[in-house]
Amino acid sequence: MTKPRVAVVSLGGTISMAKKVASGVVPNLDAESLVSSLPELRDIAEIKTVPFRMVASSGLSLPDLLALRQDIDDLLQNEVDAVVVTQGTDTIEETSFLLNLTVRSEKPVVVTGAMRDPTTPGSDGQANLIAAVRVAASGYTSGLGTVVVMNDDIHHSRYVKKTHTSNPAAFSSFPLGPIGWISEDRVRIALKPATDRLRITVDPGSPEKEVLLFTALLGDSGKLIRHVADLGYDGIVLEAMGAGHIYPSIVDNLEKLASKMPVVLASRTRNGEILSKTYSFRGSESDLLKRGLISARSLNPLKARILLYLLLRAGKTKEEIRNVFENGI
Ligand code: ASP
Repeated sequence: MTKPRVAVVSLGGTISMAKKVASGVVPNLDAESLVSSLPELRDIAEIKTVPFRMVASSGLSLPDLLALRQDIDDLLQNEVDAVVVTQGTDTIEETSFLLNLTVRSEKPVVVTGAMRDPTTPGSDGQANLIAAVRVAASGYTSGLGTVVVMNDDIHHSRYVKKTHTSNPAAFSSFPLGPIGWISEDRVRIALKPATDRLRITVDPGSPEKEVLLFTALLGDSGKLIRHVADLGYDGIVLEAMGAGHIYPSIVDNLEKLASKMPVVLASRTRNGEILSKTYSFRGSESDLLKRGLISARSLNPLKARILLYLLLRAGKTKEEIRNVFENGI
């Protein structure tokens, strides 16, 4: 029987950090080194290795990820049945969501990494890579969008979240939980998304955009909001308090800004939906929505920022952007 063809694309991150310098580790293992240390991978799939970047995931840029999207689609169209991306875990919740929104192919895309580097006892990179290749090779996530495999759990990129700085069980998909898991050599999918995957096409030559994530803080004057347009931002995600609330002193400036660029209202609780008709004080969710802000609904601020960036890069108008946030995700 022919084995599925899986490309392992390496970006760096803790999974690749086997080199100690000064007081810590730095990335030095590319896809070929990661794969060649695990001969059992070749029993699961025919592996192609693709070095893409060698950075901590905090060093990735959004244009890097659009270039990665292109490479993934090229690989899936011409050479392989599935792609595994290895990268740093710090930004997996953003990178996987960006891939979920932009990859055109329906074939499996699986992102993985490690919480403990290869020089640390109990390092989890090899186990995560084997599990990710198993999921990719199984084909069970075809048509489901990008998933993240960590610690033998399969998370959907729409919900996955890093919740701990160092624990190997750092990933969760609250309020849902993983969509599946890996047990021995078996891949189980227990849940599937109820809605179609939103897909955004970005022309690589389109002008770069910048989206600010602004957090509402107790006692802050919010004076930065007055300068957002001058600083060259194209849109903002407002990480508001609770169900979508902010201090009254910046409401007028927010309204002015919302007439110039999309201002998306998300919650710094990073969980639950932005309300729309529960509170009416100045700076409440219903007040801000009336003033032209766009509700992120249940999308957390980090993912809302990625979505807004992609929609801006795709040249969407404010009303089209509002429609996607309110009905499409
Ligand atoms: N700092 C690392 C990174 O995101 C952390 C990790 O990989 O877990 O590249």
